[in-house]
Amino acid sequence: MSEKSDINAANDTVDPDPRLELLGRTTETGRLGRAGKLVSEVVFQVADRELVIAGVGKYNVVIDGKAGRVLHGCRDAQSQAREGRLCKHVAAVLLALDEDHAMEIIEGLLAEQGDWYLDIIQ
Ligand SMILES: [Zn+2]
Repeated sequence: MSEKSDINAANDTVDPDPRLELLGRTTETGRLGRAGKLVSEVVFQVADRELVIAGVGKYNVVIDGKAGRVLHGCRDAQSQAREGRLCKHVAAVLLALDEDHAMEIIEGLLAEQGDWYLDIIQ
């Protein structure tokens, strides 16, 4: 086995992004796949712990760290939220964000008594 293939073998065993497993619980599978493709279109205007303002195509996602609020509005988000799910825009922003930061938000959204909530703009 060459040195190069050893490196490739090691890469194959790297743990998958833990966000995907968590997001999989709150995002329908096909939608999560589409979110993955949207990650490259996420543009952060602000990406701090206290405030995140991100654009995904023509939609914005605002994450207010102080209030524990994820603010977003698209037609899909409203119907997804009724089922306790995230739309592809919010999922894409969470995938594009710093991993530790995103995990806090996802865990907070998923927890029964979580500190985070989704605020859908009508
Ligand atoms: Zn959306």
